Amino acid sequence: MELIEPQKIKQKLAIKLIGRKILYYKSLSSTMDKARQEAQKGAAEGTVIIAEKQTSARGRLKRSWISPEGNIALSVILYPKAEYLPYLIMIASVAVVKAIKDTTGLKAEIKWPNDVLINAKKVCGILVESGVRNQKERYAVIGIGLNVSLRSDSYPEITQIAASLESALGGYVSRNKILSVLINHMDKLYMLLPDGEAIFKKWRALMTMLGKNVQVACGEEKIKGIAQDVSRDGSLLVLCENGKLNKVVAGDVSLREL
Ligand code: ATP
Repeated sequence: MELIEPQKIKQKLAIKLIGRKILYYKSLSSTMDKARQEAQKGAAEGTVIIAEKQTSARGRLKRSWISPEGNIALSVILYPKAEYLPYLIMIASVAVVKAIKDTTGLKAEIKWPNDVLINAKKVCGILVESGVRNQKERYAVIGIGLNVSLRSDSYPEITQIAASLESALGGYVSRNKILSVLINHMDKLYMLLPDGEAIFKKWRALMTMLGKNVQVACGEEKIKGIAQDVSRDGSLLVLCENGKLNKVVAGDVSLREL
């Protein structure tokens, strides 16, 4: 297996901010935790943390994320204005879809709020967390877990729902290549801010399940209806049978098609 080579990746970057500094680890408990620690220490904006594997990676709500060697686990440290926060998930999602297309030709879609799917199977999970340093400086961390060579049949808990780029392509995918393309796309999209509308439009155009019958589960509460649209603040608009349009905020919700 080809290891990740930060120098090789850096040579391919045409970036202003994201990827100026790359911190590379053979193994981390979680790139998110490492990124938070680095942000607390005042890491340069755009610092990217990459790990060959994560031993206790997490998704939303501390759900675990399977992240063995041979895949992509990265986090990006940013210090955005508060009004830019909703766009970070959009930037990451769009960049992942574009990077998959550019490097493999595969068509991926975004499943609201934080997954990227190929043929309805999850190949990537995205997480955005924010915090405050020294009680004043806001930081945000974007986390991306992308299945490149993962064999989902080795993990019964995700066999039915997960896929990887190599399984979808039926061939080898270079992580160094995809990482450089992904970082370039994230940087370019981040540079579009403050034009959030441009980012929102790209995100919405790649969204799957719009117009479909869906169920949104928020703990015990379940909403059924048509996934009508997404809105600029990142929420999902669900048209219920009673004619009411429900605005669902990303957070503790999971969406599935009926
Ligand atoms: P959903 O929206 O599918 O209900 P989620 O988006 O809330 O779930 P996350 O919290 O983003 O899910 O990710 C954690 C979940 O993803 C886990 O509970 C598990 O089902 C699944 N998962 C864990 N590791 C992987 C992986 N490597 N590839 C695909 N799916 C995974």
